[in-house]
Amino acid sequence: MRIAVLGGGIAGLTAAFHLQQEHDVVLFEASDRLGGNVHTEEIGGCLVEWGPQAFLDNEPRTLELVERLGLKDRLVRPTDEAARRFVWRDGKLRALPLKPWQFLFSSCLPFRARMRALREPKAPGPPERDESVYDFAARRIGQGAAEILVDAMVSGIWAGDPRRLSVRSAFPKLHALERDYGSLIKGAKGRGFGPKGVLTSFDRGMQVLIDALGEQVDARLAAPVERVDFDGFDYVVSTIPAPRLAEISRGELSELLQRIPTAPLAVVALVLREPVRVPHAFGFLAPHGQGLRILGTLYESSIFPGRAPEGLRLYRVMIGGRRDPEAVQLDDGELEGIVLDDLGKVWGFAPQPEAVHIFRHQLGIPQYEVGHQELLEQIHAHLTANFRIAGSSFHGVSVNLCVKEALEWSP
Ligand SMILES: Cc1cc2nc3c(=O)[nH]c(=O)nc-3n(C[C@H](O)[C@H](O)[C@H](O)COP(=O)(O)OP(=O)(O)OC[C@H]3O[C@@H](n4cnc5c(N)ncnc54)[C@H](O)[C@@H]3O)c2cc1C
Repeated sequence: MRIAVLGGGIAGLTAAFHLQQEHDVVLFEASDRLGGNVHTEEIGGCLVEWGPQAFLDNEPRTLELVERLGLKDRLVRPTDEAARRFVWRDGKLRALPLKPWQFLFSSCLPFRARMRALREPKAPGPPERDESVYDFAARRIGQGAAEILVDAMVSGIWAGDPRRLSVRSAFPKLHALERDYGSLIKGAKGRGFGPKGVLTSFDRGMQVLIDALGEQVDARLAAPVERVDFDGFDYVVSTIPAPRLAEISRGELSELLQRIPTAPLAVVALVLREPVRVPHAFGFLAPHGQGLRILGTLYESSIFPGRAPEGLRLYRVMIGGRRDPEAVQLDDGELEGIVLDDLGKVWGFAPQPEAVHIFRHQLGIPQYEVGHQELLEQIHAHLTANFRIAGSSFHGVSVNLCVKEALEWSP
């Protein structure tokens, strides 16, 4: 079969790599490089990620891909310090508990909110309809935890708005815990707390994966697809983000695709010279309404080895997202000012960066909002039998889920 794959991000590259084992595949990518959101730049001796910094090693399909590409020896694991994560609450960084029992004594939430969260097994059951992440969390673990911990988690993973994201589509595992055990705490005892797996990247950043895939596939760069047609192909797989696919689709399909929103995001990378009076850690998240405009900061050079040369530290600050898309349109000077101001409040001193690099993701992260599942069903009803949609806009935003979907499918 002759197959066209549209889009050369991680989803399209993996699909092309996989399908070419049995088919004749050509990939079309609009820009002049492969990888989409996944891109590592080497700047001033630092390895700076534009987008994803890592994936969790709990998805066997990603490890299978790594193995098939001969990249196993190039995997890197986080440092011990990277286990320390913080949340910004009431003007202070608060450590997140490392073990479930530590939650009892942790200051990540005020005392009353912690006590309410512990009464979770007695919370009322779910409504019939799809529910927002905020409503789900407020119902199960209380408003306090929803506004701090869940808000921070939603910012960290989705740059999203918890009052709009669908719990069923954005956090299917949490939704399943309640469905199967009637309680998150009981379910977590059965299946274990939190996401399993170890954060994993490559010695030269996520670019290693993209370069290895790029060497294997027949990709046409600077080849934007302007309409979906099947001339010369038996099958088309599109991994183009929904808003772009909407532009090149027609009629009701185009309208439905436009209804999948995105959260634009700017990444501000800062290089600081040692000594920096900031303890090594994974980083911190800043819940909405806690006085910061930034969404959080990753302490990149404290997480993986080799991210910054001796004597320097690399940080990546996220700003923008579903609740603050305007931030991404600010000019570089304004963005840098906001970021340094916020970091000054958190760290207690005014950081003076050696270098600042800003990356803007105008589309950013797709948002699976309340009703996403029904929207997907309507979209699928408009697709012909020889046209498939895949990638982060539809069935999972993480690198792991994009890879899993691509490897598990064949026409
Ligand atoms: C700042 C940031 C940090 C992230 N961090 C993490 C993380 O740590 N871990 C994690 O698992 N995930 C993370 N993610 C999410 C993850 O990176 C993305 O969801 C994933 O990379 C998306 O891959 P994709 O192939 O679906 O889409 P994309 O990467 O968006 O690729 C789509 C491709 O389609 C191309 N295209 C668009 N229009 C056309 C056209 N008309 N014709 C041809 N090609 C076209 C684009 O140029 C692009 O290359 C992060 C995302 C961002 C933005």
